[in-house]
Amino acid sequence: MEKPEIWLSFAPELHLFVAAARRAGRSAVRTDGVSTLGHVVESLGVPLTEAGALLVGGRPVPVSHVPGDGDEVTVLAVPRPQPLPGPPRFLLDVHLGTLARRLRLLGVDAAYESVDIGDAALATRSAAEQRVMLSRDRGLLHRRELWAGAYVYSHRPPEQLRDVLSRFAPPLAPWTRCTACNGTLREAAKESVHEQLQDGTERAYDAFAQCTDCGQVYWRGAHHASLNAIVEESLREFGSPGPAEVLP
Ligand SMILES: [Zn+2]
Repeated sequence: MEKPEIWLSFAPELHLFVAAARRAGRSAVRTDGVSTLGHVVESLGVPLTEAGALLVGGRPVPVSHVPGDGDEVTVLAVPRPQPLPGPPRFLLDVHLGTLARRLRLLGVDAAYESVDIGDAALATRSAAEQRVMLSRDRGLLHRRELWAGAYVYSHRPPEQLRDVLSRFAPPLAPWTRCTACNGTLREAAKESVHEQLQDGTERAYDAFAQCTDCGQVYWRGAHHASLNAIVEESLREFGSPGPAEVLP
C-alpha cells in the first residue's frame, strides 16, 4: 500500500527547528500511516513544547491525530502569553544561571542547580514540582515526563528574560526573592542581621531583608545599579507589580 503523503507548513517562529527546505511555504512528507501528527512534527525537529495549534485543512486536531493522504497541515507557534495548567514556576537547566538570577530578582519562582543533574532528573523534577522546564536543549524538551517546557530562543540573558516574561506573563514582585537560592525574603530588623553587616553598611542603611532559606541579608545598596535597571525595565514592559516589596 502506498504510504500517505501529507503537506506541512510551519509558523515562522518554528523555522529555526526545521530543515531549511521546510521554511518556505509547505513541503511534503511521507508518513508511515500509523504515526501521530505529534510524532511527525517532532521527528521534523520541532519540540512539541513549541508547537501551538495543529491544523488540518484549517481545523484544529489533537497531537494524536493520525494524518491521512493529502492532509494539509499547518503547525502554529504557542500563543503568547501561553496559558499554563498551574502557577508559573520554572526550572532552569545548568546553562541558564544568569536568567535564573534575573527571574528571582523580579520575584519569579526560578529553581536552578549549578551542577548538571542530567536530563532525566530535570524532567522528573519538572513533573514532581510542576515547574516549566526552561532550556535551549531540544533533546531535553522532547522528554515526555516534563510538566511543561519552553525553548529559550536567545543565548543572551536580556533577550532570554524578555522571552520568558512575554511568553508566560508571570506576576512580578521585585525584591521579594533571594537571587542566590530562590528562597523568599522577609523583613529583618537591623539588630537581628547585625553580625552579617560591615560597619559602613550598618551606618548607611536601616531597611533590611533576609532570605528565609539561606539567611542571606539584602539591602537596597546591595544591588548594583544594573539590577535596578533590569527591574525598572521589566516592570515598564511586563508589569503590574505583584505583592508588596519586602525591601522598602
Ligand atoms: Zn537564599
